[in-house]
Amino acid sequence: MDTLDQVLTQELDTLAGRDLLRRERVRSLPRGVTSRAEGQAPKIFGSNDYLGLAEHPEVVEAARRACETWGAGSTGSRLTSGTLELHHELEGRLAALKGTEAALLFGSGYLAGVGVIPALVGRGDLILSDELNHASLIDGCRLSRAEVRVYRHGDVAHAQSLLADGERFRRRLLVTDGVFSMDGDVAPLPELCGLCETTGAWLMVDDAHGTGVLGASGAGTVEHLGVAGRVVVQMGTLGKALGSEGAFIAGSRVLIDYLRNRARSFIFSTAPAPASIGAALASVEIVRREPERRERLAHLARTVRESLQKLGLAVPTGVTPIIPIVAGEAGTAMDWMRQLEAEGVWAPAIRPPTVPEGTARLRLSMTASHGEEDIALALSAFARLRPAEAGAFKR
Ligand SMILES: *Cc1c(COP(=O)(O)O)cnc(C)c1O
Repeated sequence: MDTLDQVLTQELDTLAGRDLLRRERVRSLPRGVTSRAEGQAPKIFGSNDYLGLAEHPEVVEAARRACETWGAGSTGSRLTSGTLELHHELEGRLAALKGTEAALLFGSGYLAGVGVIPALVGRGDLILSDELNHASLIDGCRLSRAEVRVYRHGDVAHAQSLLADGERFRRRLLVTDGVFSMDGDVAPLPELCGLCETTGAWLMVDDAHGTGVLGASGAGTVEHLGVAGRVVVQMGTLGKALGSEGAFIAGSRVLIDYLRNRARSFIFSTAPAPASIGAALASVEIVRREPERRERLAHLARTVRESLQKLGLAVPTGVTPIIPIVAGEAGTAMDWMRQLEAEGVWAPAIRPPTVPEGTARLRLSMTASHGEEDIALALSAFARLRPAEAGAFKR
């Protein structure tokens, strides 16, 4: 009989043979050292730190102070010894950012997805889920044991047709990303709100990538699309534009009281560490105070999208800092990534199963801390992608 390691080695060899083996990319330069001259580090175009807050002195200082004041760890789950005043303060600020009555913190976005969905629906209920939803929502749907129907990406008419016999189910929940993490497009929230309002389905929006980035006040996709007050379950994360780690659900006081009692990933997991909460508090304040960061980010993203389109690359139009450049085969995407890296530009290749077969891509993400010279470097590297590869996917 084969040993564990023999079986796993075969699996890994199969992945490698299909260009699908994953490796971590280790960053070895300390914070703040980013220029090539200083350390030969490639310029990173793959960070979720959209507003440049993970390294912001005020955010780092707030993390340090929270750690000194409250200790390195929170010492327990939220319902035992783990709840600090700091957690409640941040929950209040997040509710204010989202314009809801209350908010509840989770250890990560993944934990929020797998905890909240099964708390809201179960056997005998129906979930409608966008086909490109984040893995945390997909796994939350599976864990819930509700019947899951997947609608074509952004296709509200398809979602509506899948709700035709919705009355048979006890509860109906529609879940969608606000900003889709690998395509950088936004969900058709006004239409989805309309559908949910006419059918009595509940709408949950995971706005991991929109929070702090979209909307006049940085509240996210819900604000950007003008549907404030119409989304009953709003999820956001602290690990992207807010430069920290963790996540939250924002909604009515009743929703939050209920999740505090029923979301297993909230109840049975250690409360987020003081440093992460302190950092996020400082970030939320900067999001409120400095709209110019969002504006600069939107400007950079628009410029880069347009420039890549002019190069003839398959880049969709959009409003977010996530810019997909579809290559097709995983091998092509990997080849492009290596070519760019040789020019000092790091843009991650995204391969199945993260994206559907045949849509492997580079996923460029812009941040407010990219300078004009970084963008010039990236665009010249893209312009030099070898024609044999780039040409195959020109529009
Ligand atoms: C990143 C992401 C998550 C997971 O959040 P973490 O805090 O990193 O676990 C969930 N949903 C979406 C849409 C995301 O992009």
